[in-house]
Amino acid sequence: MTHLPVIAIVVPCYNEEQALPLSVPKMLEMLDELSGLQLASPDSYILLCNDGSRDATWSVIERMHIADRRVKGISLAHNRGHQYVLLAGLMTVRDKCDAAISIDADLQDDPRAIIEMVRKFNKGVEIVYGVRSSRDTDTWFKRTTAHAFYAFQKKMGLETVYDHADYRLMSNRALGLLGQYGESNLFLRGIVPQIGLKSDVVTYAREERVAGESKYPLAKMLSFSIDGITSFSARPMRWIFLTGLVLLVIALLVSVYVFTSYFYSDHISAGWASIMLSIWVLGSLILIAIGVVGEYIGKIFNEVKHRPRYAISDTLWD
Ligand code: UDP
Ligand code: MG
Repeated sequence: MTHLPVIAIVVPCYNEEQALPLSVPKMLEMLDELSGLQLASPDSYILLCNDGSRDATWSVIERMHIADRRVKGISLAHNRGHQYVLLAGLMTVRDKCDAAISIDADLQDDPRAIIEMVRKFNKGVEIVYGVRSSRDTDTWFKRTTAHAFYAFQKKMGLETVYDHADYRLMSNRALGLLGQYGESNLFLRGIVPQIGLKSDVVTYAREERVAGESKYPLAKMLSFSIDGITSFSARPMRWIFLTGLVLLVIALLVSVYVFTSYFYSDHISAGWASIMLSIWVLGSLILIAIGVVGEYIGKIFNEVKHRPRYAISDTLWD
């Protein structure tokens, strides 16, 4: 091959002072291996993206940059969340690499899969998804809730790659196209499959976090899933409309019953149970319906403001 591609490994880091000293050496090893195998240029590098951490993450990054210039860094002005800091990193490298690989800082995604990703890229694949072959190391609870979310999302009209998080390779053409998606409600797992370039999958076993603790507890996962659905599909609103239609049919049947009772029965005042049930069931359905519509209005509210999605306050690049 005449031109070896420059690979950028992009790592979102939020309070990862404990994990980085363990994971960055592993990633540097992968870069060495890539250039040793003549798969990637020796100029390939790692971009550590600090997401407004409250611990010593940024000073750890500065130290690592001084020790090895292949380690570069950006820092966001404040904590924006995984998706935004990842976008900031990808947009920073998009004109400065041939392909970028996003990977978490905690080594849960096996860095050895990078070799296979780059091999596929060199054969012309532009987006390579890292897909977990097993979730044995996740707790039973995390595993089942995660799978329930995938099934639910699919029902609600959101197409994602099954068991793929944000561990993936994207060519710089794919990054350029990603840059054209201007949405404020960022759900990369939904956007990337829509880009539609030639794609493939690499499987790997998901490991345990090397150090520190998960920043995605159940509540955050739930809200991430709802955001994903409401950013990509209007199906929930369709469903509440259909529920309304079904209720209307039931209501018509009930009115027939009510009218016949009114004219032909002598004990019509005994309606406490049915009235209580209707008030509570219909009341909660109405609230849910308003809530679902509110989710979409909230999304529109965020989009129309066109606020910047992130602000980079510091850069280590030389
Ligand atoms: N992360 C981030 N900003 C946040 C939360 C998380 O940049 O607000 C990073 C975190 O440092 C890690 C990745 O996102 O590199 C995934 O987070 P984590 O490992 O805590 O999630 P889990 O693997 O438990 O789902
Ligand atoms: Mg993790």
